[in-house]
Amino acid sequence: MPPKPIFQTLNHGFQTSAQLSILREDLLHPTISGNKYRKLKYNLVEAKKLGYSKILTFGGAYSNHIAAVAVAGKERGLETVGIIRGEELASQESHNPTLNYARKCGMELHFVSRETYRDKDSAEMLNELKIKHGDFYLLPEGGTNDLAVKGCEEILGDHTKDFNTICVSVGTGGTLAGIINAALPHQKVIGFSALKGCFQKESITPFLHSKTTFEMTDDYCFGGYAKIDLELIRFINSFYETTQIPLDPIYTGKMMFGIFDLLRKGIWNENNRILAVHTGGLQGITGMNLRLKQKNLPQINVGHAY
Ligand SMILES: *Cc1c(COP(=O)(O)O)cnc(C)c1O
Repeated sequence: MPPKPIFQTLNHGFQTSAQLSILREDLLHPTISGNKYRKLKYNLVEAKKLGYSKILTFGGAYSNHIAAVAVAGKERGLETVGIIRGEELASQESHNPTLNYARKCGMELHFVSRETYRDKDSAEMLNELKIKHGDFYLLPEGGTNDLAVKGCEEILGDHTKDFNTICVSVGTGGTLAGIINAALPHQKVIGFSALKGCFQKESITPFLHSKTTFEMTDDYCFGGYAKIDLELIRFINSFYETTQIPLDPIYTGKMMFGIFDLLRKGIWNENNRILAVHTGGLQGITGMNLRLKQKNLPQINVGHAY
């Protein structure tokens, strides 16, 4: 059972009397990033039910999904294999905190070229992987499938019924799909894309069984996935200073930056009871800080290292 949901009301300090609260999904589990916990929940049950002892999945070098699968496998006694994008990483591995952590949890890592990685959904690749690793339960990149969406539907419930504006960060869109499915008629869902473009609007349609309308914006993606600048770093650091809530630079930092910008612009009024879903992702901060150091940019400083 996940712990009781934790809400915090934020004093945003803008002119508008719209109310802002944050749902601390990042606190669901000590190491499995908030929404990755939701996405894995029913998949782990299914893998066990079908008798699999191994899970195989895909991800980039700093992937929250890879880290989450590695920990979950360790906790549930399942073997895990991670197919990682980028052959060059095989030698740099010792400097990559996410991959080091995954290996420490017992995940077997395999590095493939970007070209090979692009083919990851092909039948040939799947066959090759089966020959190499034996039988496994397959989780797609980012972990989005029907069971993941089902898990994310549990982010909303009785505990969130008083909110009417739900904000969430979007990668593949699995989490957004779950939230849309679970939203009540009076709740409007807004997805903040962490990637350029709002292609997830289409890609999530197979997962939707609700007619709830939703909005998406990529206005706050800072140029693309994992791109970050001084303004975002400063925002994350000052948000932590005033709230003691850590945000990650890839997803939740960008979403919250966007929410603050919209509050500043006055698009919401006293009728808006906004809920920002903190989807976690804090394990990625250490890796991001290493890259920021190389670029001579300031560090993300949100208390202890995750
Ligand atoms: C993976 C992730 C997301 C995006 O989830 P999707 O279901 O792929 O859209 C958002 N926030 C955090 C912290 C994540 O790790």
